[in-house]
Amino acid sequence: MTSIQFLKGVGPKKAELFGRLGVETLDDLLFYFPRKWEDRRLPGKKEPLPFLEDAPVIRGTIKRIRDLYTSSHLRIFKTVLETPYGEAEASFFKRHSPRFDVFALLRKDLKEGATVWITGTPEDPLFLTRLRADEYYLDGDERALKMHIGRIVPVYPLTEGLTAKFMREAVYEAVRAGAEAAGDFLPPALAAKRGLSARDLAARAIHFPENNFELVQARRRFIYEELLLLALAWAIKKRQTRSVLKGFSYEVKKNLLTPFRENLGFQLTAAQAHAINEIFADMRAPTPMGRLLEGDVGSGKTVVALSAMLLAAENGGQSLFAAPTEILAEQHFLTFGKFLKGLDVRFALLTGRMKASERKKLLADLADGKLDILIGTHAVISEGVNFRNLRLAVVDEQHRFGVRQRAALRAKGDKADMLIMTATPIPRTLFLALYGDLDRSVIKEMPPGRKPVKTTEATEEIAFQAAAEEAAKGRQVYIVYPVIEETQAEDMKSVKAEFERLKALFKGRRVDMLHGRMPRELKNRVMEDFAAGRTDLLVATQVIEVGIDVANATLMVINNAERFGLASLHQLRGRVGRGQWDSRCMLVAHARTGDSADRLRAMVQSSNGFELSERDIYIRGAGEILGTRQHGDMHFKLADMSRDKEILEQAIEDREALLAADPDLAKKENAGLRRKLRDLYAARWNLIDLS
Ligand code: ADP
Ligand code: MG
Repeated sequence: MTSIQFLKGVGPKKAELFGRLGVETLDDLLFYFPRKWEDRRLPGKKEPLPFLEDAPVIRGTIKRIRDLYTSSHLRIFKTVLETPYGEAEASFFKRHSPRFDVFALLRKDLKEGATVWITGTPEDPLFLTRLRADEYYLDGDERALKMHIGRIVPVYPLTEGLTAKFMREAVYEAVRAGAEAAGDFLPPALAAKRGLSARDLAARAIHFPENNFELVQARRRFIYEELLLLALAWAIKKRQTRSVLKGFSYEVKKNLLTPFRENLGFQLTAAQAHAINEIFADMRAPTPMGRLLEGDVGSGKTVVALSAMLLAAENGGQSLFAAPTEILAEQHFLTFGKFLKGLDVRFALLTGRMKASERKKLLADLADGKLDILIGTHAVISEGVNFRNLRLAVVDEQHRFGVRQRAALRAKGDKADMLIMTATPIPRTLFLALYGDLDRSVIKEMPPGRKPVKTTEATEEIAFQAAAEEAAKGRQVYIVYPVIEETQAEDMKSVKAEFERLKALFKGRRVDMLHGRMPRELKNRVMEDFAAGRTDLLVATQVIEVGIDVANATLMVINNAERFGLASLHQLRGRVGRGQWDSRCMLVAHARTGDSADRLRAMVQSSNGFELSERDIYIRGAGEILGTRQHGDMHFKLADMSRDKEILEQAIEDREALLAADPDLAKKENAGLRRKLRDLYAARWNLIDLS
């Protein structure tokens, strides 16, 4: 591996800066992919592409120059150019310095009569011929034409001290030096089948494509690679999980399950019963369960999870129930108390609020096997919490729970059964990509008697009127805003500012506030007050999105509704309609951007998460929720699972064929794939074992 230091223009200092970006060798640099691409071709030569950003470019002969001083110590170097399309203007801005001439270099390069290229941002979006200049190049500069201007130009993630221009030049050198060495690891038959360009060509074209076609092809090649490797890793992971023997067996004894059913006070829905059957079958199998339980908000996943934990307890096994937040963990603790009343099963809640002595006692009991069920947050998994015999881990509301945490959970009890629950319906392909190692159960039916939440678009005035009515009836209201504090962003209301206003507006009512940056103690107090009915109106951010269950809350007002994805809107709406009263959700939109009108319409039309998830706009939103966290984990360079659905389909199809023909990737043509998998998912991510 050649160190980056040997690259022209890169010494030890620069090498250290590259190191901060994770670039140490020439190879790293070659595969340091652009964050985006700019179209810096001349106006007539541009061809649009969805992921190609249009950058205004002027090529012309300088007619006039003016050097201006402003009162605010700013200096402006203004050039007027003659171009084939008429006159154009580009201005450079710099802070004035009393000690030297900040425009000395510009004055030398940009003389009247010189032909130059200038790129920058339009001063007014309507006039692309008036730029605030970023970069300029002289017409005779051959190198510049190869990498900086008059072409599609790569834009890289940078770090302080490395300029965009320097980075492009370094990558250009790396491409020249190394593109031939970009070893192709895909079986040739596969590359041919999918029409993928050769890897060395793609490695050049991903940085410096000659045209749109090359760029599209190069991107497709690398996205396919990333997704195929991931799909293979999941399949191998699944096989490996299933090859471990648990070494114990379950018997359905019913000494806990029967009284539990009697405690419920309702019949399980057919869908719940079906999910329980699938889970029990897995738990009784000799190899560990890895299952995702998917069910819309309010479909009753908790009792399904409880059934599984009781089966474990009946057989002397311990369970962990992990919730995404402390507030939710506490809520579940209360729910468990209700459903497990009178049963011979010991459960406890672990929170950050406990006294050190309490905590110590609880952990000791857990290690001694004196507890059957531990309820806590996802953090329990990474903290040093020891079980005597952990046999089942349930993770609630998984979308905050990434791949890495899942691996950590496996490490805690590799023979334990694992049940992951989510309220976000996930389309098949996305499921295979994110949870390819899991089986899936789906609860498609809601408990009987649920009244759909009436959803409307409303003005703020109407929504607040409704809030006053609900409060007068003794009901409670959520009022959600997109951000905690005022930002520069135009037209986004904030929790803090609106809280003050609403307190004044709803005089005589108790108004409270909840957001993620409050101290934990305070958050808990606010939630307790709301749950106990002491608060009338709760002004909050999206923190209340998951799991919160307050039956007396009957109105959800979502402000700046246009800012929320469909999945989030649906989750927020799920916070009401949990009791005997009619409930409403009011969407207050302040502007309509992009596809927000479609999202709001979908919300008004359907209250069913599965129906909503069939719409593309939901999937894009869900992709964001699911994707961001998981992405961070898998750190794809180019792939985006919610966007690259078609390539993902292909990768999964090819994965199936590959493994069917060669389960261990032992054949010669698959050696490259196996090596890549080992480097990435075995050595680096520790997700699979490929010795
Ligand atoms: P989620 O799937 O969103 O986690 P919960 O498990 O919190 O849903 O259930 C929502 C509410 O429905 C709870 O109050 C729960 O007790 C109740 N519930 C669950 N199953 C049934 C059922 N079969 N019949 C009636 N109510 C049920
Ligand atoms: Mg739940």
